[in-house]
Amino acid sequence: HKSDDPIGDAEREVRDWAKQKTTEINQLKAQEKFRKEFLSNISHEFKTPLFAIQGYIETLQDGMIEENPEMAASFLKKASRNLDRLSYLIHDLDEIAKLESGQIVLNKEKFDIQTLVKETIDDLEDKANTANIKLNFNTKGNNPIYVRGDRKKIQQVLVNLIDNSIKYGNRGGQTQIKTIPLIDQILIEITDNGQGIEEKNLPRVFERFFRADKSRSREVGGSGLGLAIVKHIIEAHQQNVHVRSTEGIGTTFSFTIEKA
Ligand code: ADP
Repeated sequence: HKSDDPIGDAEREVRDWAKQKTTEINQLKAQEKFRKEFLSNISHEFKTPLFAIQGYIETLQDGMIEENPEMAASFLKKASRNLDRLSYLIHDLDEIAKLESGQIVLNKEKFDIQTLVKETIDDLEDKANTANIKLNFNTKGNNPIYVRGDRKKIQQVLVNLIDNSIKYGNRGGQTQIKTIPLIDQILIEITDNGQGIEEKNLPRVFERFFRADKSRSREVGGSGLGLAIVKHIIEAHQQNVHVRSTEGIGTTFSFTIEKA
């Protein structure tokens, strides 16, 4: 529109332009900061198990095998556990990289979520038994509930969430898994009665490498990427994932999936 104040208009235009540039620069700076933090997190996550393995092997080479074969065996076991961690880490990083670059094409199909939950519980039963945790599927009847999504990816979501409920649950406790029909979606809830998550940390648990309790999380292994992967997969399905938790009482993770 025409203005009676061309100089004022020009000034405003320059000001707007400068404002936009500042925003762009700030965005670039934030990206750069994020990239640096990400790299430093990755190298830290790799260094911890690598240095541990190095330490165990050096001690073994220094004569421990002859001097104390029992301890040597336990060191080998620890070295092997740290190797497992490295391999989880590489697998999860690979997964995240693919998800974030948008390379992942969802293979959507119609499947029965009840069967998938049961299969996943079966797969994790041994691990749960070792931790003395019971996995309960609270479902009414044996009727199938059909949903639409990438079955393999949804299984990954279930594995990550149930696995966390075992890792952070209480020994002797239990995990409740529920599938709840909504109007157009099915809501899936995984509830443990573990230590819970501090309220201030709740919004951060889906961030890559975020760990609420560093020592406990390190002890139970994992890559710190499990929930970031969960969030990516659910958002790729244009669905929601949510967490609620009360310290000392337990945690519920829930997500939705569209009905078929
Ligand atoms: P990881 O388990 O490998 O550390 P995740 O991304 O799966 O990584 O989880 C991130 C963090 O969130 C964990 O380190 C832990 O502190 C917290 N967390 C996840 N699930 C639970 C749970 N069920 N109960 C308590 N804390 C949890």
